[in-house]
Amino acid sequence: MVKRVSVLGATGSVGRSTLDLIERSPEEFEVVALTANCNVVELAAAAIRTNAKRAVVADESCFADLRARLSGTGIAAAAGRQAVCEAAADSDWTMAAIVGCAGLEPVIAALAGGGTVVLANKEPLVSAGDLVLAEAKRRGATVLPADSEHNAIFQCFDFERPERVRRIILTASGGPFREWTSEAMRVVTPAQAVAHPNWSMGAKISVDSATMMNKGLELIEAARLFPVDPARIEIVVHRQSIIHSIVDYVDGSMLAQMGPSDMRVPIAHTLAWPDRIATPMQPLDLVRIGRLDFEAPDEERFPALRLAREALAAGGAMPAILNAANEVAVAAFLDGRIGFLEIAAIVADTMMRYQPQAPETLEAVLAVDAEARAVARQRVEDCLV
Ligand code: NDP
Repeated sequence: MVKRVSVLGATGSVGRSTLDLIERSPEEFEVVALTANCNVVELAAAAIRTNAKRAVVADESCFADLRARLSGTGIAAAAGRQAVCEAAADSDWTMAAIVGCAGLEPVIAALAGGGTVVLANKEPLVSAGDLVLAEAKRRGATVLPADSEHNAIFQCFDFERPERVRRIILTASGGPFREWTSEAMRVVTPAQAVAHPNWSMGAKISVDSATMMNKGLELIEAARLFPVDPARIEIVVHRQSIIHSIVDYVDGSMLAQMGPSDMRVPIAHTLAWPDRIATPMQPLDLVRIGRLDFEAPDEERFPALRLAREALAAGGAMPAILNAANEVAVAAFLDGRIGFLEIAAIVADTMMRYQPQAPETLEAVLAVDAEARAVARQRVEDCLV
């Protein structure tokens, strides 16, 4: 049966990897909608290549250009946040690969369609995990994790006997500054921070990997997705990124998923689940890899990890505040406005200054997100003085 698919964030790193797989088997997929923020050139080209029904830009100022590029193709063009949400609501399978909390409303809209929603976009789970999962339940939608660590855990986790799981171990590459001193990290540039040793990713998640906030966000994501006590989710630095995560059972068995550092592997898993499909990746050559190393993460040099654990323990609004402040700080770092070490400092400061009630509705989460951004932006301004 032909699967009707949509890709939110189709012009990004995960979006492109998803389209690469879809385009290898055009007879199996019908592309309902592709979305981007404003990268009209790539979005229109992808929509034409995949014969998509609809292409949508979130940024309305990019609409005229999109419409012009799609003129005469029969592909509908639309723009605006609402149009992105509408595009999300009508597929059997949706890849949620918008970056940041901007993906929250589209994720909720995609879940309303009741199909399978694949979450690469981790920030909505961090900021509004309970709401996202409750909406999935209410609508009978299936949530599958595409984040490589969570996809690995999903593949190894015994959901029928979660009490037999002793620990979840999230692996972390350690990022480009794994061995750097804090002093050396003080002067790193955006170009150095986005140059990840193992993975090719968008700018925001690359900086998150460098600060290790990415692993902190993933810790919260894991606590949302898997029924284990958060105290039993551990992080281990594994610089080769071959083992993508591990589930440790009470009998001493540790089940791990291994594979190349290429997002097409976990995406393919979600695209075919519960079946499997072939991917173009070469099998891992374990003899050539030779060794797998593991070390404890250093929360002194990478305080983002500690902040995420604190936000998870505090619960309520705190994960949303952590995420919003981090998005603001990472954007400011990428703009060259603040230093690398100030990212975690701004997150810590925002968490300390702003402690609202736990948000219980989508609107309340969005309000917390907006207010936390305002607090963090003020802190960015303070750094500039
Ligand atoms: P990219 O920055 O490469 O791509 C982001 C996508 O989202 C682009 O299509 C972009 O459009 C779109 N977008 C950006 N802002 C908005 C907005 N305000 N409204 C609507 N669309 C928007 O990101 P990645 O692909 O690297 O990451 C996407 C998500 O997946 C993130 O949450 C990340 O943490 C997660 N993830 C990524 C992995 C990776 O390997 N890259 C691995 C695991 C998880 P445009 O091109 O027009 O700007």
